[in-house]
Amino acid sequence: MLPLLPTTIAGSLPKPAWLAEPRKLWAPWKLEGEALAEGKRDAVRLVLEMQERSGIDIVTDGEQTRRHFVNGYMETLTGIDFKNLKTVRIRNRYDASVPRVVGPVSRPAPVHSEDVKFLRAATANAIKFTLPGPMTMVDTLYDEYYGSREKLAFAFAAILNQEARELAALGIDVIQFDEPAFNVYFDEVREWGVAALERARKGVAAKTAVHICYGYGIEANIVWKKSLGNEWRQYEQIFPLLAKSTIDQVSLECANSRVPIDLIALLEGKDVLVGCIDVATNRVETPEDVAKVIREALKHVPRERLYPCTNCGMVPLPREVAAGKLESLGAGAALVRAELV
Ligand SMILES: [Zn+2]
Repeated sequence: MLPLLPTTIAGSLPKPAWLAEPRKLWAPWKLEGEALAEGKRDAVRLVLEMQERSGIDIVTDGEQTRRHFVNGYMETLTGIDFKNLKTVRIRNRYDASVPRVVGPVSRPAPVHSEDVKFLRAATANAIKFTLPGPMTMVDTLYDEYYGSREKLAFAFAAILNQEARELAALGIDVIQFDEPAFNVYFDEVREWGVAALERARKGVAAKTAVHICYGYGIEANIVWKKSLGNEWRQYEQIFPLLAKSTIDQVSLECANSRVPIDLIALLEGKDVLVGCIDVATNRVETPEDVAKVIREALKHVPRERLYPCTNCGMVPLPREVAAGKLESLGAGAALVRAELV
């Protein structure tokens, strides 16, 4: 049974220095073969202990088993050329060398089943597993085969759906699709983005969540955020569509951002995973900082539907900073819980 105001995290946590280079996105592994497999399992044990000690109710594997939240999954699929990259603009924000879609995309084998079996056995807590969302996958590639972002997104959605069904059958409580691209391509979100997401969650016997944020604290995102003005109203365009969708939960950025908090009221009927931890700074919030965000959010979301969470993944942060932030998340939620009882 989950307590009132169950805490959770957006997904990722820093990797230990012996597993991958710290403070780096898509850092190469430092181990290989069986040593890498064992190292990943050990890292999962570490991040579970960190979360449990901090009072996080719905825990994740901290994405210790993959190098990147999008490419880590796509690397396992066929139809994508990861060797000869092409430079494209990601989310209208920065140029990156990305893999090319060169044929029909397919999943030769289940990707995360073994990871989930291990995670399920390693903790008694409720567990969440993150997968990239179809639109964000499309936006991280150069397509030379489908000729349509929508068609490619639905091809990915079918693959993700198969994966999500299998993971739910293995005991995952929440499957979360990460869709930062939703915050950029509003027309596409309306035209096919939400439909592709619903295709990915169809028939999945677990709660399903979508995570939409303003990104890690990397330079390109900082510049982009500066261009968004005093009030960030992007969510205003997406939330009404999600409120009508079959998705159960929405994970969003709130702490230290310019998102007007009353926008979360647009998510009527959904569980709202409110970001109470800013991942774009190394400053560790106090429990009272966290409690303040929760109290504000409670003015717009019923208490039964409010899940204190982080703004985004914490993979680029120093480990001790992420550990401090987790502790404050758990302690801040406990403060408000005590006020409500
Ligand atoms: Zn995020």
